[in-house]
Amino acid sequence: MTDTQQVDLVVLGLGPGGESVATEAAGAGMRVVGIDERLVGGECPYYGCVPSKMMIRAANSLAETRRVDGLAGTAEASPAFDVVARRIRDEATDDWDDTVAVERLEKAGVRFVRGHGRLVGPGVVEVGGTRYVASVGVVLNTGTAPAAPPVDGLADTPFWTNREAMQATTAPASLVVMGGGAIGAELAQAFARFGSRVSVVEMAPRLLALEEPEASEVVARSFATDGIQVLVGATVGAVEHADGRFAVSVTDAEGTDITLDADRLLVAAGRRPNLSDIGLDTVGLDPAARTVETDERMRAGEKLWAIGDITGEGAFTHMSMYQAGIAVRDLTGADGPWASYHAVPRVTYTDPEVGAVGLTEEQARDAGVDVRTGSTPLGSSSRGWIHGPGGDGVIKVVEDRAAGHLVGATSVGPAGGEVLSMLATAVHARVPTMVLREQVLAYPTFHRAVSSALADLDG
Ligand SMILES: Cc1cc2nc3c(=O)[nH]c(=O)nc-3n(C[C@H](O)[C@H](O)[C@H](O)COP(=O)(O)OP(=O)(O)OC[C@H]3O[C@@H](n4cnc5c(N)ncnc54)[C@H](O)[C@@H]3O)c2cc1C
Repeated sequence: MTDTQQVDLVVLGLGPGGESVATEAAGAGMRVVGIDERLVGGECPYYGCVPSKMMIRAANSLAETRRVDGLAGTAEASPAFDVVARRIRDEATDDWDDTVAVERLEKAGVRFVRGHGRLVGPGVVEVGGTRYVASVGVVLNTGTAPAAPPVDGLADTPFWTNREAMQATTAPASLVVMGGGAIGAELAQAFARFGSRVSVVEMAPRLLALEEPEASEVVARSFATDGIQVLVGATVGAVEHADGRFAVSVTDAEGTDITLDADRLLVAAGRRPNLSDIGLDTVGLDPAARTVETDERMRAGEKLWAIGDITGEGAFTHMSMYQAGIAVRDLTGADGPWASYHAVPRVTYTDPEVGAVGLTEEQARDAGVDVRTGSTPLGSSSRGWIHGPGGDGVIKVVEDRAAGHLVGATSVGPAGGEVLSMLATAVHARVPTMVLREQVLAYPTFHRAVSSALADLDG
């Protein structure tokens, strides 16, 4: 028999945004139930942002020792992956245990239920034989899971996704990475720096295909320095696993068939939204859809809100948190500001980092913007030149010529994600390009190169 309980709010899925909504709503006096079938906090703290950046930080320290030669003498590093694996296990993820996060949630007044929840109608969620009827409604934050493309033989092999990669205790001697987007590129470089022989297979004609082509070029140069084999415009036809080794059949950009042989295969070829089994049909939504459509208040239907990766507005922790803040304002009857997506920042933490905000040149042109662009290689700036090895990069700005402000920008360099902040402010606040040009920028910073990119707008 199903037990029924009256509450105010149900948060289904506790990724970074869901955890935040549940905590804030309970703080505002609501009776809140938070449901998660895996770990409270979602992908980011356990299998995503945090452990991957810890691995990258470690890998980059090794790369820096290799740059000593041209700068300060000689240095020798002996990579030991177990050091970072231990840090990820003990410091970042508590051995993939969310006890602390659950206690924090319960201390904030949220009733936590572990299990697979499903909507059974507007404002009603069932989990583990209990039906929660919410007077205010339900917030969906079910996120995504790694997707495995329909490649012959793949499903029968012990391939890695980001989840297994984050739990690795050793760096494999050889690794094939399927997918050269942000996740694939970050992990490919990290493992290569720990000594793995890495090949990246990407279907698109370049790495980081969603970013500016200039960014892809810089990252491709860096991958060449790291000894990473990059096959772009290439497709994986079949995967086999025998005697502990993978054989990955690839057709390269020229149509030549090759077989990559490796100890491990990491599939980083997209994410699958957790939407098919959460009862969307019971609230009039399509369970086969890739995203849940939301309005500017994150409302998705009657007594229904959605936040995070499933909204399709950017699969980033900062997006999940941003949308959480909006949903909480709406739930508690506060005023806006409501959602706006014209200045979404994103950073790929390769070395050099690729920071970007707003539209790329191509996206702006496709949107019918009267585009003017300016760019400058970081190496031609004082700081890029002083930096020497590892100082490769580029700044690119995309202006709406008629409006006279930036609609997008890219910052690639050793501190690309940090330099991005001034560009993100410019795009967010639609700062007139003229005003940006008047700004005094400290010498010799990396961000000072922004002034050269702005000057280049004039051609
Ligand atoms: C390797 C990697 C690196 C990344 N690096 C970055 C980065 O550097 N910066 C950044 O901003 N983003 C990064 N991301 C993306 C980031 O992890 C996500 O955008 C972020 O976790 C927000 O996701 P979310 O809020 O949609 O929910 P998720 O984090 O996906 O969490 C959803 C939760 O819902 C639960 N759930 C799903 N369905 C149900 C159900 N029916 N019942 C109960 N519980 C359910 C799941 O168990 C999960 O805990 C990275 C991702 C990966 C994979």
